[in-house]
Amino acid sequence: MTWNSNQPKSQLSRRQFFQFGTGIVGAGSLTAWLGTGALAQSLDSSARQPQDNLLAAASDHAHPTSDLSPEAALRQLVEGNQRFVAAKRLNPHEDVARLTEVAAGQTPFAAILSCADSRVVPEIVFDQGIGDLFIVRVAGNIAVTEDVASEEYAVGVLGVPLLVVLGHAKCGAVKAALEGGELPGVIESLVFAIQPAIAASEGQPGDRLTNAVKANVRLQMQRLQSSSVIASALQQGKLKIVGAYYDLETGTVSLLS
Ligand SMILES: [Zn+2]
Repeated sequence: MTWNSNQPKSQLSRRQFFQFGTGIVGAGSLTAWLGTGALAQSLDSSARQPQDNLLAAASDHAHPTSDLSPEAALRQLVEGNQRFVAAKRLNPHEDVARLTEVAAGQTPFAAILSCADSRVVPEIVFDQGIGDLFIVRVAGNIAVTEDVASEEYAVGVLGVPLLVVLGHAKCGAVKAALEGGELPGVIESLVFAIQPAIAASEGQPGDRLTNAVKANVRLQMQRLQSSSVIASALQQGKLKIVGAYYDLETGTVSLLS
């Protein structure tokens, strides 16, 4: 992957990430995974040593990891999407034997940060089954603290070789950020996390919303890469991160360059 140095850096402070993230995802499940102490520490920038926490968690669980290379993992997703588009799904890993297998431990081969939109269902779109994909779904596929922490868990503990940020056509969260205006409840927190992508894609030729969705994918990828756990795995060649765009009408997932 190559990166446009003009892309905006994250403008959210850790406190803002925390406020928005907890409103969207909640901290309970992470507490269960990592322990209250580890979660509290990961949110404290002055004492932040997420890699150490994760390595400790990894040694506690002694997780086996996927034996796929990052390239092979990406090929498996691309081929799964091709089967889906061609209406030739294999529906793998949905039987009782698979349930029993993964009950003993999970070794997903890809982690995905996807929108919560009901029309974007990664297991179906990529023709994968139980235990194959570690998926974080949040409106606008934004990488706020809990989402980054979840993907850090996938990378640092479960050892996934591939991380995908999946945006999609007609994303309501990106559209809301584009249009502005008042929103009920705490929905504005989503808009806040997407706004830099709106600015970055302004003036580009083509469809305004599509451009903003793709810019948002790149923005959230940058936020994920600012994680020391994810950056370290990338640097060691253990992980590949890609951005992708899902077309609602055809079911096709295109990789962003
Ligand atoms: Zn969406």
